Amino acid sequence: MRLPSGFAEVPCARCGAFTPGLAFGELCRDCVKVTTARANRVARLISLAVTALAAAYVSLRIPPTPTARMWAAICVVVVYLIVRRVAKKVAMEHLRG
Ligand SMILES: [Zn+2]
Repeated sequence: MRLPSGFAEVPCARCGAFTPGLAFGELCRDCVKVTTARANRVARLISLAVTALAAAYVSLRIPPTPTARMWAAICVVVVYLIVRRVAKKVAMEHLRG
């Protein structure tokens, strides 16, 4: 979308700093950096908590064979990766404002 010349600089949605090349509702580079760092921290905490619960649940439920343990470990890692991704996305949305 081509902006009218008067709107060449748009304020950041978070800190209000006028930044060239920014679209309405977008964050400036500094805010993106800060928000991403915070979202990563939140996502790590949430995913570690969920993974600990998943690991505890799985270790109580699986039979004590090497194969079952291996698959359980893989499942826990997958849970961690998925939860972390989703948590980061959600955290980014919440931290924007
Ligand atoms: Zn900003």
